[in-house]
Amino acid sequence: MRIDLHTHSHRSDGTDSPTELVRNAAQAGLDVVALTDHDATTGWQEALAAGDGLDVVVVPGIEISTTFQGESVHLLGYGFDPDHPPLVEELHRVLDGRDQRLPRILARLAEHGIEITEADVALQSGSAAASGRPHVADAMVAKGYIGHRDEAFQGWLNSRGKAYVGRYAAPLLETIRLLKAAGGSAVVAHPWSRGSDRVLTSAAFEELAAAGLDGIEADHVDHDDWSRRGLRDIARGLDLVVTGSSDYHGTGKSSAFHLGANLTDPAEYERLLGH
Ligand code: AMP
Ligand code: ZN
Ligand code: FE
Ligand code: FE
Repeated sequence: MRIDLHTHSHRSDGTDSPTELVRNAAQAGLDVVALTDHDATTGWQEALAAGDGLDVVVVPGIEISTTFQGESVHLLGYGFDPDHPPLVEELHRVLDGRDQRLPRILARLAEHGIEITEADVALQSGSAAASGRPHVADAMVAKGYIGHRDEAFQGWLNSRGKAYVGRYAAPLLETIRLLKAAGGSAVVAHPWSRGSDRVLTSAAFEELAAAGLDGIEADHVDHDDWSRRGLRDIARGLDLVVTGSSDYHGTGKSSAFHLGANLTDPAEYERLLGH
């Protein structure tokens, strides 16, 4: 069984449509693929329909932008009720934060002679529930300012970049509780990448587990072997599930993030989602 529990379509900042993503997952020999767009569930229906005709199980999911002790933490959610009112409300706040950030990023870029309009970004983010930094990067590529999406994250849009602007993120502990209340499962995505490694200590995971956390994504491209082992140890100590995934974004990220780049053990998948 080949199980990949974290991927993005163009309903957030991936480049495949949900249908293309599911077809590519089947092509890559995956048995299970979770669609986990940033802060949105708008791709679920299309992805589930695409899975119907194929030999691949589609797990509806999400990757929510949250904050914990001042650091950004990504929280994966699976199999929850997408209409659970308090969760819908919180996701609206996050999506609004994305839209409010966009003109401020563009103003910063303009100060440095990079002229991108909201319409330029909308051409890139057309199918997405809201804009993200990768769409701004794509607009910079389209206008010839840079050659590839990644270049925008070297000095412009990364957290210390000249055009970086923060945005609203959901409080982590409460978001875990919201996912649980909506009947879903919650897993911390790539906990020890960029910044969040400073706050996600084993003591912090104890607090998250008490709030209802189900699992830890240990096997991710951003983690070296030492991090993977450390996270597995923490998961074992707290009886949390360990997952692995690609964080596939289509052509929006390097080939290191290809479908199936990291996999989830079938027994862990069973524990997480009870299939
Ligand atoms: P946002 O959701 O708008 O805050 O942008 C964050 C997204 O940008 C992440 O989910 C990644 O998909 C992408 N990203 C972040 N850092 C980089 C990077 N250094 N290179 C390429 N993409 C990145
Ligand atoms: Zn992304
Ligand atoms: Fe993430
Ligand atoms: Fe992701």
